[in-house]
Amino acid sequence: MKRLLMTACAAMLMAIAGGALAQASGTGEIEEKNIPIKVTEVAPGLFFQYHHEESNNAWLVTDAGVLVIDTRQHPRRAEELLAAIRKTTDKPVRWVINTHAHGDHYFGNSVFKREGATLIAHRDTAGMMQALYPLEQKRRQGYFKQRGFDPKEAVLVMPDITFDSALTLNIGGRSVELLYLGAGQNPGDTFVRFPKERVLFAGGPFSKNSWPNPSFTPSMANWVSLLNKLAAMDVDVYLGGHGDIGNKSDVLRQAKMLEDFDRGMREAVASGMSREEIFKTSPFAQYRDVRNYYRMNLFINSYHHFLTTGRPENAYP
Ligand SMILES: [Zn+2]
Repeated sequence: MKRLLMTACAAMLMAIAGGALAQASGTGEIEEKNIPIKVTEVAPGLFFQYHHEESNNAWLVTDAGVLVIDTRQHPRRAEELLAAIRKTTDKPVRWVINTHAHGDHYFGNSVFKREGATLIAHRDTAGMMQALYPLEQKRRQGYFKQRGFDPKEAVLVMPDITFDSALTLNIGGRSVELLYLGAGQNPGDTFVRFPKERVLFAGGPFSKNSWPNPSFTPSMANWVSLLNKLAAMDVDVYLGGHGDIGNKSDVLRQAKMLEDFDRGMREAVASGMSREEIFKTSPFAQYRDVRNYYRMNLFINSYHHFLTTGRPENAYP
């Protein structure tokens, strides 16, 4: 790692709810809309791949090699990502960042490890990968089956380097900042800022016009606060783990959607409604056109669990 100039700041300890694995939420089948995969050069040498049905990626091409953000849901998909990168550069992939520990963002790690890349993640993302890998495998069986992918190929490949609160990479004359601001959607949620390019990859907590899975968050209030902090950053372009390219209004809209979800669920639980009764009311219908709304029954189940037990359904042990 001597070609890297890295600055690891002081550790930031997180209080994380403990406990055993809870029931998996969903099996990962995908509602297909046949929206084609789109690659956009959002700044010189900085590419964003938007895949509506699955998950997004970004990569930065530098003179010293390529940095990739997230690795997709299966090695087969990671090979396709590598092919997309190869259309933009023949430089080697030297660094990979895993923004959070959901399988659809890291199950392709083995492909980039084989390419010789150094894998980087927040300490809690690494911890979540280790602890929740069996759950992530379980959650994706439907997806693998639907696509004819062998689940056994999606092996656990852990990060080589972890960081606690911030890490700056100066690579090939470009600066890349990894930031940790506490748990949002997940313990370990990492933001990747390209300060000169005024671009932020916001991983799990932000997905433009897309319902995020709330079964991992230890604090919706912190998640909303994170989104407000992101919107206040000196950044113009927001790239989410899902959904198309966003701006500040999209980030604030997601914060509002989560606040509405949290408030609506708290009121329903306070009035004694069961999960089934809540779902029957067609809740949050104003967000019906938002991607992933078809999974609302699972989200209600998960958040009902959180509000009635005080622990995320898929807690970090
Ligand atoms: Zn995802």
